[in-house]
Amino acid sequence: MAGSFDVVVIGGGPGGYVAALRAAQLGAKTAIVEKDRMGGTCLVRGCIPTKALLQSSELYTMAKDGAAFGLVADNVGFDWAAAQKRKSSVVDQLVKGVEGLLKAGSVTSYKGSARLAGKGVVDVGGDQLHGKDIIIATGSAVARIPLPGADLTIDSDQILELKEAPQRLAVIGGGVVGMEFAAMFAALGSKVTVLEMLPQVLAMVDADLVTAYSKHLASLGAEIHTNSKVSEVVKQNGSLLVRFSTGGEGGAVDADQVLLAVGRLPYTQGLEAEKAGVKLERGRVVVDDHLHTTADGVWAIGDVIGGIMLAHVASYEGVCAVENIAGHANRVPDYHAAPNCVYTDPEIAHVGLGEKEAKEKGIAVKIGRFPFAAAGRALTLGQTEGFVKVVADAGSGQLLGAHIIGPRATDLIAEAALAVQNGLTLEQIDLTIHAHPTLPESLMEAALAAQGRAIHIANRKSGLPNPAASGGTSPQGGEVSTPTANMQNRGEKMSAPVKSSSPPPTPSVINPKVLELTKNNREFLLGMHRQMQLIRRFEERAQEQYTKAKIGGYCHLNIGEEATVVGGILALKANDWIFTSYREHGHAIARGVDPKAVMAELFGKETGTSHGRGGSMHLVDYGRRFMGGYGIVGGHLPLAVGGAWAVKYRKQKDVIFCMFGDGATNIGAFHESLNMAKVFELPVVWFCVNNRYGMGTPVEKASAVADIYKKACAYDMESIQIDGMNLREVLLRTSEIVEKTRKDSVPRFIESLCYRFRGHSVVDPDKYRSAEDKEKYRKADPIVAFEHELEESGLADEEYFKNVRQEVDAEVRDVIEFADASPDPNPSDLYKYTYAGQWDNRPELRAERV
Ligand code: FAD
Repeated sequence: MAGSFDVVVIGGGPGGYVAALRAAQLGAKTAIVEKDRMGGTCLVRGCIPTKALLQSSELYTMAKDGAAFGLVADNVGFDWAAAQKRKSSVVDQLVKGVEGLLKAGSVTSYKGSARLAGKGVVDVGGDQLHGKDIIIATGSAVARIPLPGADLTIDSDQILELKEAPQRLAVIGGGVVGMEFAAMFAALGSKVTVLEMLPQVLAMVDADLVTAYSKHLASLGAEIHTNSKVSEVVKQNGSLLVRFSTGGEGGAVDADQVLLAVGRLPYTQGLEAEKAGVKLERGRVVVDDHLHTTADGVWAIGDVIGGIMLAHVASYEGVCAVENIAGHANRVPDYHAAPNCVYTDPEIAHVGLGEKEAKEKGIAVKIGRFPFAAAGRALTLGQTEGFVKVVADAGSGQLLGAHIIGPRATDLIAEAALAVQNGLTLEQIDLTIHAHPTLPESLMEAALAAQGRAIHIANRKSGLPNPAASGGTSPQGGEVSTPTANMQNRGEKMSAPVKSSSPPPTPSVINPKVLELTKNNREFLLGMHRQMQLIRRFEERAQEQYTKAKIGGYCHLNIGEEATVVGGILALKANDWIFTSYREHGHAIARGVDPKAVMAELFGKETGTSHGRGGSMHLVDYGRRFMGGYGIVGGHLPLAVGGAWAVKYRKQKDVIFCMFGDGATNIGAFHESLNMAKVFELPVVWFCVNNRYGMGTPVEKASAVADIYKKACAYDMESIQIDGMNLREVLLRTSEIVEKTRKDSVPRFIESLCYRFRGHSVVDPDKYRSAEDKEKYRKADPIVAFEHELEESGLADEEYFKNVRQEVDAEVRDVIEFADASPDPNPSDLYKYTYAGQWDNRPELRAERV
């Protein structure tokens, strides 16, 4: 078996076999040694088997949703064993294919475990191969961590061999491998929970793409816990229990299988590399910039050298190393255009620089976006989720990066990779004729959008109102509708006005007629829906910013409370006053406070509602009579009484609307305030947002309190309890109470029963409500419930909702960028705005009232 070769390659993965084939092409007498199957991790346990199974799950999803396409298939089911069989046959075919290619290319293959046995010698089970040059391409292996109970988990190799799909799957690690399995099993109906230590899953992907993806996964019932560290896996009652902590608070998830996907490590076991003079550093083979190791005539490529551990990078390095060996070229690998793909549903792919990365490097960039919702081909495919985003040098227009989430993103990235690799400009992309209708047109449109001249979506001109407000349909099928109009030209965003986020124009009288689900009321109803979506998105992103430490203090969110907030606040007239505690961002937005100023305040910036002096505590807007941020749990209730005194004293007809959570109802000030308001007949409406979170110390011991409205009986006060998840009910019944109080100046009490989907803060593990209770309320998501009403009455459809989601997504992105780019308060002005009279940004509003 011994032999002499020009090149001996150790490892038959995509790095090794491609290197061997290229070496043979260049005339080198070549051998390759593989201890397992040709094709390596990629073909046998990685890229190929996962994608084969993902294809099965994608087909299953499509078949289930096929009715709209005219597909008649009753009782669509999924046969895991058949999918596995197909996967294996795809793998077998490709392995055979590689073996055939090596043979046809005159590469001699050896089966066995290789070790470096002296200069130019490779030992394979006692046989010696002599090579003038040797290439180490031994790849990587699954990383293990010293986790108690790790032996109860399975890794990415084992999950591919499961005999059945688990009903409940916990995934430890939200990297690409973990998320691909999460997506696949969630689509197959498994209850999937992902536990990720970092603030974001898919850490290397742009945050806006991850958000879009996480949303999709959540729609399949999957849960993602970020900032969550797993402490152990134990057996309990015949299943597995994964314990974890999020910000110091404990949590646990039950599972039938636990996938440990915490990365991969370079593999050099049995190679005796160091003995042969090959330096290793934390397990990886050290190479110079030509891929040569520290041992003479020994080269290394692929996963074993660390860096970007992907199949195509391994192959590329294989070619570089061989061409250096042959003296064919002087290759220093250039990774700046290495694409990165995630084969989830929807797919994610990116290449080159992200927006943030470019800015961090001090490069001024222009950004262009194009939503698939406006792409004719995406519509025909029925896959309109996602967008293409391009990042280009602001001066030269050179494409620096592209980021795609949506259908076939992993294929679409190829064109962008070619452009980034070759330094092409936006103009060169858009001057290339793209076939129609195809998905790549979206890249061309994003390139056009970055230059302010997209064709199939409206372009926003700096400083001018959005011209796309009227909507329309393009001849090519891409919709030019209001919802997509905000999706582009982010480069100009700081100067361009964000589409108005003001509350919808409200009818002067709220009664059952104006809330009927009819065409006449469409504009108002859809306006409320949009407000709820805007609040939801704002809060989701606020949470993210909090975990990135952009927001200090606490960050309490209105997620789940949108119907209560929008319905409650729209019941008021412009002259009514709102007193709230510090934390509700949605309250402020529902009242029409500029979301940019709200986010900037949370960021502590000068452009915030309190010039950044109040941080997350002080969201106030005198102009809108929004008095936020006066207390934590109920400190603002006596202030509301004071405000009501002033209104009564001035003989005005305004109502004081005092909003608080259930936590504020156990303090003395609550009782004092209700008592005083009743005794002196003050025009206050007490509005308790009972989101069923009770906060105590420790948080785990908190308890939810019900029927708070009964407390008002002690003060002989009319009090009602309403369904806070039902927008129309909240608005109608709150309006009735407010108008009664306006008329007779008698205080009243409303308890709006809703459900906050997130705890008081990200450290709240939300353990004090039963699983059934949570499930019930999650199903009653107020936005989804209202969407159902709108859909059933024919006032809107899924496409419309999708577009709204995209629009508010873009709007909130603008909001964050605005807050991010805003200046910090000047320390020398620290005491400015400390005293009354210095506050208002708009003195004319003060003058009007005084
Ligand atoms: P490997 O493919 O690991 O091949 C190394 C080979 O060397 C193995 O066959 C091994 O048996 C052999 N070997 C090791 N030591 C010896 C020895 N001493 N003697 C003889 N033979 C030896 N990448 C992508 O680009 N796209 C994807 O979609 C993708 N999906 C993935 C999904 C999963 C679940 C996993 C685990 C990985 C995925 N990857 C993906 C990563 C990809 O598989 C690797 O980056 C790629 O296989 C690395 O190629 P390589 O040639 O360096 O090493």
